Amino acid sequence: MQLAPRRVRWRLSWYYAISLTLIFSVFSVCVFLFVRISCMIPIHAQLDQELALVAKAVRSNAAALAQLETEDIVPYFRISQLAPSAAAGTATTLYTSRRWNMSRFAGNARVTENGNWLLSATGRHYFGRRFIWSQAGITWHIDVAVDTEQSYVSVKKLTIALLLSWPLVLLASLGGGYFFAARVLAPIGAMADKAREITADKLSERLPVQDPNDEFGHLATVFNETVERLDTYFERLRRFTADASHELRTPLAVIRCVGENALQQTASSAQYENAIGSMLEETDSLMRLLDGLLMLTRAEAGQLALQPEPIDLAALALDVVNCLRVLAEEKHQQLCFDGASPGYVMADRATLRQALINLLANAIRYTPEHGDIGVRLVQSSAGMQVIEIRDNGPGIAAEHQSKIFERFYRIDQDRSRETGGAGLGLAIARWMITLNSGSIALESKKNKGSIFRVTLAGIGLSGT
Ligand code: ADP
Repeated sequence: MQLAPRRVRWRLSWYYAISLTLIFSVFSVCVFLFVRISCMIPIHAQLDQELALVAKAVRSNAAALAQLETEDIVPYFRISQLAPSAAAGTATTLYTSRRWNMSRFAGNARVTENGNWLLSATGRHYFGRRFIWSQAGITWHIDVAVDTEQSYVSVKKLTIALLLSWPLVLLASLGGGYFFAARVLAPIGAMADKAREITADKLSERLPVQDPNDEFGHLATVFNETVERLDTYFERLRRFTADASHELRTPLAVIRCVGENALQQTASSAQYENAIGSMLEETDSLMRLLDGLLMLTRAEAGQLALQPEPIDLAALALDVVNCLRVLAEEKHQQLCFDGASPGYVMADRATLRQALINLLANAIRYTPEHGDIGVRLVQSSAGMQVIEIRDNGPGIAAEHQSKIFERFYRIDQDRSRETGGAGLGLAIARWMITLNSGSIALESKKNKGSIFRVTLAGIGLSGT
């Protein structure tokens, strides 16, 4: 666990050191070339001048040559002559300055036209150049040299200094890189320590974000957002499990209680029938609850296999109305259907039908006897199809309206239990409508009835 950051630290240090050393190498070569060229330019200028003087003196007389030497105008020079018959490289030396002789250049003092270095017997460095000049079949070689010991030593010292600096630069940049990499990577260590503390029961913890604009800050922010989502998900799961257990416990407790009572007393067969009837009712309510939970879990897990098809909304709504009419009749309620504005939508029939059944069943369930319930199709201007399910029941107060679509939320716990609801009907309806790319809205006031509006995108086929 500890190794990864160290490896990155070393890798960063090496990248840093190699880049810096490469930059230093290029810089050193440039400095070396610049200094060397700067030294050679005056040397060549001096050689040009001295070669011209010697050539001029050669053309005049021997006294002029001697004067060059005695007055120290050109201290190092040599004149040789190459006869036409002479073999290549064998020239006869005609004149050698005293200083040239004394220097006793190594390698027979070979000098080229482009110039070359000469080393004297004492180890001093000179630079010499040859001027070749032919006249009347005779070739003259004029060799001139200048003392370059000072420049040579300066360039040599510079070269040594640059070469010695190279490993120092490498070491210093490696150390510096290691130090700076540690500082740069410090947030990673802090993040790793904090991340280790984040466990399933500590999902409220977050990573420290030093600077949200840098890469580590961005990483920490993204990680925190992921933990946030997990936290919300786990919280929902916890609430769901607690609510589901609570909902399951009540009917089970009733079944147990009824069973125990029936066993403890000697009862008539009518009383036993009554007890069994109550137990069956509770079992029904349990099964409805489990069906609802199963449906919601499948919908949330995306396991509901939807089969979208063009649906005639008026036909579907009428089917739902006819299906539940008997419940409304039991309560002597007026159930009207207005399909004057028919339309088609692309949706999954089964889920959309279930959603409408839940909404209409609620309207029938919560509206008192002799109440009015209506189902109406409306076509909105933006090509959307709207189904309204309205009732003149107790209505839903503003403070409950945002919560009634949550799972297990019931406005009046006792009253809902009597009517058999577990608080899942609207949650399921909303999920199913959302799965069909629709939306659901509620318009209601306490004691003024409710309108549930389901909006779906129309597909432009005309209804029949
Ligand atoms: P339940 O299974 O309890 O009916 P729902 O999710 O269907 O659960 O509804 C949640 C709550 O919203 C209900 O307990 C009820 O109090 C309220 N409710 C739903 N529909 C209506 C309605 N048409 N009129 C008044 N209250 C309603």
